[in-house]
Amino acid sequence: QERPANAAKDCAPLVVLAGPTAVGKGTVSAYIREHYPEVWLSVSATTRAARPGEVDGKHYHFISQERFDQMVADGEFLEHAIVHGRASYGTPRGPVTAAAREGKLPLLEIDLQGARQVREQLPEAFFVFLEPPSWDELVRRLVGRGTEGPAEREVRLATARRELAAKPEFDTTIVNDDVQRAAEELVHLMQQHICATS
Ligand code: 5GP
Repeated sequence: QERPANAAKDCAPLVVLAGPTAVGKGTVSAYIREHYPEVWLSVSATTRAARPGEVDGKHYHFISQERFDQMVADGEFLEHAIVHGRASYGTPRGPVTAAAREGKLPLLEIDLQGARQVREQLPEAFFVFLEPPSWDELVRRLVGRGTEGPAEREVRLATARRELAAKPEFDTTIVNDDVQRAAEELVHLMQQHICATS
């Protein structure tokens, strides 16, 4: 089914969820994966190793750097980025396009660099910024474990401050004060804004 070329964002092909490090994007998307089967959650490719309990093809496609580079060269990613300077992550384009075309509720949980790339390509997508209840709470989540030295701590705080400043680039904000409540708000927004057929 054809969609209007750009229906002024009251009809977006997909929703992007992004936000600062440690705000809890992964927790919110994991909650949605378990509780909202009607949401089509994009499965990213990554070069990092699987953590205990992570399933290949469900949480991520765990691939080699060589394969990742090949996919980049072949234009198979809607967006891709190196996150925290550690590993590469990317959103495979084909499945997202198909899900949008089939009238599903596609959700991309990606970092800020990725969100900016999607906006370049799909300005009609709907962009949601997940923010912490307060700066103090983000600091707690970021450095709470106390495993970093003062220098590392300063780097993380500077990163978080810069990332929080990206908020005005987004269409709306959800406060992650409670995972279940934030997930509910996100799904409600998706139902309002995505031009789904079902
Ligand atoms: P983790 O390795 O903890 O699962 O994720 C680390 C970070 O990578 C999170 O901020 C997450 O949003 C981001 N991320 C996961 N998948 C993608 C992706 O496909 N593209 C981009 N740009 N970031 C991603």
